[in-house]
Amino acid sequence: MTIDILTIFPEMFESVLNASILGRARQAGLIEIETEDIRPYSLSKHKNTDDYPFGGGAGMLMMVQPIADCMKAVCERRKVPCLSNLEPHESVPVKRVYLSPRGVPFTQKLAQELAREEHLILLCGHYEGVDQRALDKYIDLEVSVGDYVLTGGELGAMMIADCVARLIPGVLGSEESSKDESFSDAGLLEYPQYTRPREFEGMAVPDVLLNGDHAKITAWRRTKAIEETIKRRPELLKRAALTDKEKKEYEAFLK
Ligand code: SAM
Repeated sequence: MTIDILTIFPEMFESVLNASILGRARQAGLIEIETEDIRPYSLSKHKNTDDYPFGGGAGMLMMVQPIADCMKAVCERRKVPCLSNLEPHESVPVKRVYLSPRGVPFTQKLAQELAREEHLILLCGHYEGVDQRALDKYIDLEVSVGDYVLTGGELGAMMIADCVARLIPGVLGSEESSKDESFSDAGLLEYPQYTRPREFEGMAVPDVLLNGDHAKITAWRRTKAIEETIKRRPELLKRAALTDKEKKEYEAFLK
């Protein structure tokens, strides 16, 4: 998978893309993530990327021209089509995403869908946002990382790149790591986890985790995952993949 991130602040990405699991995955060639600075594409004398909004109002807007030319250059280099709104039956090897508070919510399910794409282009807005014409012509999907307003799309793009990357086969040490965790296929929050020492400041690790009985451990974890979900995010339980037995047992929380 390839992710291109279009931004006027590429320097914000350096440590995030080079550290930890993302850094190792990039070095191993499991995922290619590059930033593209929009500013050099500006045709204005001072390489401006923003201007006042028509009709007035607070703040500045990112201009369409530098974004369009940056998008075209990236698409040309990657040899992928550049315009959005292609016929629905037409399969294109790239999805262009604009980070936006008014986009569809970013969830684990959407991350799983995006991880199946060959190529993502993430456009980061700034200031008061982006000239609508850039979105109409070059964007397939607007995605929000939460019901709040950030100063720019860069942090959201980092979140998407990070979340999608860990779903690519080989990026995490074990394929199981991303299957058995919060918001994964079961739709439950994760059970409590413990590591050494067995006892700390009077708190002991539950005995069931120490006895080596894997069936019992799996059953305990499942029960705890359901209990944590009921305690913290009861609305998630209704969409979770429960067995008939569990549905009966937790009937009261499913109403
Ligand atoms: N005026 C815009 C509005 O009211 O929706 C907010 C613009 S925001 C200050 C600047 C940029 O940050 C946006 O263009 C977008 O790229 C990014 N951004 C801010 N909040 C976001 C969110 N919740 N999810 C995704 N991107 C966000």
